[in-house]
Amino acid sequence: MTTLATPSTFASRVLAWFDEHGRKHLPWQQDITAYKVWVSEIMLQQTQVSTVIPYFERFMQSFPTVSHLAHAEQDDVLHHWTGLGYYARARNLHKAAKQIVEKHGGIFPTRFDDVVALPGIGRSTAGAVLSLACHQKHAILDGNVKRVLARYYAIDGWPGKKNVENALWEVAEKNTPERRCHHYTQVMMDLGAMVCTRSKPKCDSCPLQSDCIAYAQGKQSQYPGKKPKKAIPERQTLLVVPVFNTQVFLEQRPQSGLWGGLYGFIEAQDINSAEQALFKRGMQNVTLTAHTAFRHTFSHFHLDITPVVAVLNSPPQKQVQEAQEGHWFDFFQPIEVGLAAPTKKIIQQLEHML
Ligand code: SF4
Repeated sequence: MTTLATPSTFASRVLAWFDEHGRKHLPWQQDITAYKVWVSEIMLQQTQVSTVIPYFERFMQSFPTVSHLAHAEQDDVLHHWTGLGYYARARNLHKAAKQIVEKHGGIFPTRFDDVVALPGIGRSTAGAVLSLACHQKHAILDGNVKRVLARYYAIDGWPGKKNVENALWEVAEKNTPERRCHHYTQVMMDLGAMVCTRSKPKCDSCPLQSDCIAYAQGKQSQYPGKKPKKAIPERQTLLVVPVFNTQVFLEQRPQSGLWGGLYGFIEAQDINSAEQALFKRGMQNVTLTAHTAFRHTFSHFHLDITPVVAVLNSPPQKQVQEAQEGHWFDFFQPIEVGLAAPTKKIIQQLEHML
């Protein structure tokens, strides 16, 4: 039977590994501030480090402090997020920055309860920011850490279930050391990302190999347990793309719901409703062409999108050329508002669709 490491042995082993192999040169690890760590933690949710780095650097250049972010236009913030997906993260980041200015004088709070009360920040993110930036002792439990702990302790079940999550938090809390907590936080993320990877974990390089239960049983792929499978529903939509000369018409979507706050094309269920939607916007003399559908997959459904290009044969009616929520953009120029990935894809291909 495997004897598990005590919390202090567990921590000292992974810290020794950190000294030799841990990541210390990521952009948000230089001249560390809570703001930088917070932005990086939000970007890193569901996204790989290599993808995040250029986005993080552009974001910091445009919004170097909480106050710059709080005072930015939401369109500008979403524009900096274009391509990263999960746009609620950007909207919450912006909302939280405003709250930090209003309630905390623009200084990122250092009390756990204040941090976790901010929009978009859960227990693990709050712990990570305060540990990495302020050297406070807090446990974290992001996707990487869940994987390492579920395998090491062979904790059964899908971590989305409360009892499994609680069991993981319990061992996360127990192992988090008083000393060098910030390095411990970092190394647990590093181990999950670099060694105890989702597929083909590099157990031979792992400081936990000698007593890891999943390794001993050859059952690494069984932990953490998978989410019970449900068929992902499929939906269909037309995206109507009004074009006049070299201009394309985009509307800002409502703040809540799919692609909230981003600019996008008019959605319609069929050609009839597409024509009506165009008519309502003062676009009458149009030639409609439906193009090949493509699939965009969200976490909870597939969306089959048929782009319908609507070429205006005469200018749109004056009074609705610039509807309150819609604008014409030159599609040969960079469009500097937030766009969802499918919108961007259609704009990139538009020249060939005409
Ligand atoms: S030994 Fe393998 S499965 Fe166990 S924690 Fe290390 S990398 Fe993960």
